[in-house]
Amino acid sequence: MSEAPHLTFDLDSPGVSTGHLVVPKGADCDSLSLPVFSCNRGEGPSLLITGGNHGNELQGPVLARRLVEWLPEAQTCGRIIIVPEINPLAVQAWTRNTPIDGKNLNRVFPGRSDGSVSERIADAISRILLPMVDTVLDLHSFGPTWDCAPSIISHPIADIDQMTKTVSISKAFKLPVTLLWEHNETDGMFDTCVHRQGKTFICTEFGGGVVSAEALTLYEAGVRNGLIALGLVAGKAEYPTFRQQKSGQTLETTASDQLKSPSPGIFEPRCSVMDEVKQGDVVGVLHPMGSLSAASIDIRAQSKSIVFAIRSAMYVQSDEEVAILARPLAH
Ligand SMILES: [Zn+2]
Repeated sequence: MSEAPHLTFDLDSPGVSTGHLVVPKGADCDSLSLPVFSCNRGEGPSLLITGGNHGNELQGPVLARRLVEWLPEAQTCGRIIIVPEINPLAVQAWTRNTPIDGKNLNRVFPGRSDGSVSERIADAISRILLPMVDTVLDLHSFGPTWDCAPSIISHPIADIDQMTKTVSISKAFKLPVTLLWEHNETDGMFDTCVHRQGKTFICTEFGGGVVSAEALTLYEAGVRNGLIALGLVAGKAEYPTFRQQKSGQTLETTASDQLKSPSPGIFEPRCSVMDEVKQGDVVGVLHPMGSLSAASIDIRAQSKSIVFAIRSAMYVQSDEEVAILARPLAH
């Protein structure tokens, strides 16, 4: 019989403690020990913060380390558990998916104890850490081939109360964008697993392959706002400055708001995130390769929109996403 996932320390100890979440070995690799930080200040809300779900989104793990530094002083009540890198194998390889089994950790929740390593990680988190909290904050950054607006993203949730609560707490982060993303492929997502346990899930997205000091400052300010709103940290929440503005807006995007490449080629962005575009505006240009007589193709907005995310210049295949547009959320 194989070992069960477990913690190497008592998370119920008062104050700050650290240890590991052990993901048992399987047929494909040895056991993993994920570092876990806990700050337990007694009664109050309980929050799990995770980074490194996707291994090529390193803003999350970096921010998690910053939180570990200042939370012991700042946290006034409740419980915060932080796992800076929930998929260390992908972080070390700087890949979205886990290199050993090729799986996207964010599509295999709640996982399987007898599955491949991604599934065993998901199983350990779902079974050991999730039952101890009422809210999860998963730190993402959209991946290295994109630029995206600093944002909190939610997918539509069937339970209206849960949806209302999620949007309300998301707005309290006071980031430039709170986005409702209609997504058809939510099966296996961490979100879905957390919702099934009746808990709140919040996901941040900070785009770009570059971990910049400016973006991290904004990211940290947003997360601090969120912790204040959750009642875990004292202080006054304020909008951080982004593009000379201190404000936020709530947007929605659906499948029809995604612009795709009409053919293979090099995608050249012609807009920046948060730009407003109207119907017919050129969002980017696709440059075919192999012949200079083949004309470049304009990729245009279908309607009045805001550019939420756009690909960095890169070679794309036919029908690949190159931009995600959004519109103010209709109530
Ligand atoms: Zn991600």
